[in-house]
Amino acid sequence: MKIHNFSAGPCILPKSVMEKAAESVVNYKNTGLSIIEMSHRSKEFVDVMNRSVALVKELLNVPEGYAVLFLQGGASMQFYMSALNLLPLDGKAAYINTGTWSSKAIKEAKLLGEIDEIASSKDNNFSYIPKGYTVPSEASFLHYTTNNTIFGTQFKHLPKTKVRLVCDMSSDIMTQEIDISRYDLIYAGAQKNLGPAGATLVIVNKEALGKSGRTIASMLDYQNQIDKESMFNTPPCFSIYTAMLTMEWVKELGGVKAMEKRNAEKSTLLYSEIDRNSLFKGTAAFEDRSVMNPTFVLKDDSLNAEFLKASIDVGINGIKGHRSVGGFRASMYNALELESVQVLVDVMKAFEKRQNS
Ligand SMILES: *Cc1c(COP(=O)(O)O)cnc(C)c1O
Repeated sequence: MKIHNFSAGPCILPKSVMEKAAESVVNYKNTGLSIIEMSHRSKEFVDVMNRSVALVKELLNVPEGYAVLFLQGGASMQFYMSALNLLPLDGKAAYINTGTWSSKAIKEAKLLGEIDEIASSKDNNFSYIPKGYTVPSEASFLHYTTNNTIFGTQFKHLPKTKVRLVCDMSSDIMTQEIDISRYDLIYAGAQKNLGPAGATLVIVNKEALGKSGRTIASMLDYQNQIDKESMFNTPPCFSIYTAMLTMEWVKELGGVKAMEKRNAEKSTLLYSEIDRNSLFKGTAAFEDRSVMNPTFVLKDDSLNAEFLKASIDVGINGIKGHRSVGGFRASMYNALELESVQVLVDVMKAFEKRQNS
């Protein structure tokens, strides 16, 4: 039976990417070596790194003056590292709190200085994106999470401010077109949309660096990582290689613009059914609904186990909701096919029919 993988992360990758990656683990380009047993200083791997950086620049239209890095430690390390590099000792930064990941980012940044939580949707279990806040003009940057993987909300517009932006884009990087020039820093763990866990993509405005007044440990210093071209120490070779393959796949399909269209089709299909079906309802505010991670519940939650079983029976994996929201979450990253969403919609329809008969 075909498995339809709606897992929130690590998550689905294109099948062709997985096959190519598997092949390269056995024998990379007929070198007789595996991609995971060759020197990261070899010409082969340096080519992989350079190609990966070039693909990020091409696909996301990264302007001059920005560096592209592949680091380790996940998005969770960036919560601290971003503030360490960008928040001056006597400065202050503004944060918008839209859920678990932003809360964690705030907690880590507070270790380093004054953090102004200018808006939060905690009062309603993070089911919406705050509006009508003001960003203090003296803030060194505004940090927010573009897509809230757990609560199923997503920023649809850039915050109205001249303050420089710092963003956690872990769960929607390369799923839509963005204007990099508005950001001083973008970071994203690889394991949603890019590749296997291990690498973290960082895009940083070089002009924003060197102003914190802090002494920064080598591994946590963006400038050091830039100078060493992400090879200050051994990089997560396999994760970067597979991310490169995924980006080649994105490019082949027409780039980020094509992903945006594909993702809009999938989310429209699923949300239409959530809204039509008498048994289900969405949990996020209508205008803030995430294209990547639709969250929804059964109005009668005593049916949860039965619906989950019905979905597993048709090959659906990973739609049990996060414990903080309950119900269901269908993560629909770039690699998920429209056909898989149709399978989910069909099982929702069939379930409604059965309940009403
Ligand atoms: C998954 C996720 C994280 C955590 O990423 P790690 O790489 O595991 O640290 C952070 N932010 C967002 C938005 C996520 O979806």
